[in-house]
Amino acid sequence: MAKTRIAIVGLGKIARDQHVPALAASAAFELVGVASPHNKLDGVPSYGDMEALLQAVPHIEAVSLCTTPQVRYAAARFALQRGLHVLLEKPPGVTVSEVLALAALAGKNSAALFASWHSRHAPGVEPARAWLAGRNIRSVTVNWKEDVRVWHPGQTWIWQAGGLGVFDPGINALSILTRIIPSALVLKHAELRYPRNCETPIAASLMLADGNGAPARVELDFLYTGGPPQWDIDVDTDAGRLSLSKGGGEMRLDGEQVVGLSGQEYPGLYAHFAGLVRGRSSDVDISPLQLVADAFLCGQRKEVEPFVE
Ligand code: NAP
Repeated sequence: MAKTRIAIVGLGKIARDQHVPALAASAAFELVGVASPHNKLDGVPSYGDMEALLQAVPHIEAVSLCTTPQVRYAAARFALQRGLHVLLEKPPGVTVSEVLALAALAGKNSAALFASWHSRHAPGVEPARAWLAGRNIRSVTVNWKEDVRVWHPGQTWIWQAGGLGVFDPGINALSILTRIIPSALVLKHAELRYPRNCETPIAASLMLADGNGAPARVELDFLYTGGPPQWDIDVDTDAGRLSLSKGGGEMRLDGEQVVGLSGQEYPGLYAHFAGLVRGRSSDVDISPLQLVADAFLCGQRKEVEPFVE
């Protein structure tokens, strides 16, 4: 079967680190172009914007939008209006209403829209979901802590409105949580800590509840210098404790590591997108973004020291 001709829009860190290698190894996609204001990819036709790219490179069928979140909606609209299939990096938009509008537009144009959550393709996530199905959950603890200066040096967009601050990594935890917990999660309380010189928070404490009222405490810290990053989720149930660590890469049951897990985030993500493209269908789950939006709706705001890179 012919490969789907795809272009990357926004050639930054995640595009180079993950999307380019995943597409190079993909049996379903062929990377035929790049649109990015400043960056070019060696050996692939590269243009400053999507309009120039589509004029120059024939028969592009799909785009992967790896831009900063603040420009994602306009790019996605432009592509969907031309009938292109669209993969959105996370977060799928700056607001929930943007993403709902894109889903409607995709349906109208019979294009596939994938609001991707890369962490959901980590090897421990589906096994965790399967193990938790039907269990009685007693409590959940999430610690998602890393040093932004190590993982996102110079990315000033994170601190501008719409850039999400600590929710840029924190939404990965929420994307896993909303996938593995069998009932819908509800946000009960949030405290958001804003550096005095930033428009987005650098740390947050959330309290959620599952459908049976079991508490889920989520601690997010973007200025964590206490050691290697913590990307951990613990779920206590009537049948014992399930733990995911390394962002869903490893799973333990009552402390015993589950071996033989397989899967890689971005190859898995593109395999899923390939199925959506074949069926011209969409996968748009806004629940992680909705929880973040709810935290901004009801969160108590605290001011903290200015952020220095
Ligand atoms: P980044 O390194 O700052 O790259 C963002 C890129 O967006 C820039 O290189 C810029 O291209 C491009 N861009 C900005 N405005 C554009 C426009 N109007 N049209 C086309 N391209 C535009 O950021 P990143 O770390 O790759 O993150 C990008 C997205 O991926 C974010 O939503 C982030 O949450 C997500 N993500 C990041 C990571 C990670 O570890 N970094 C992991 C998973 C997901 P030019 O440089 O050419 O101007």
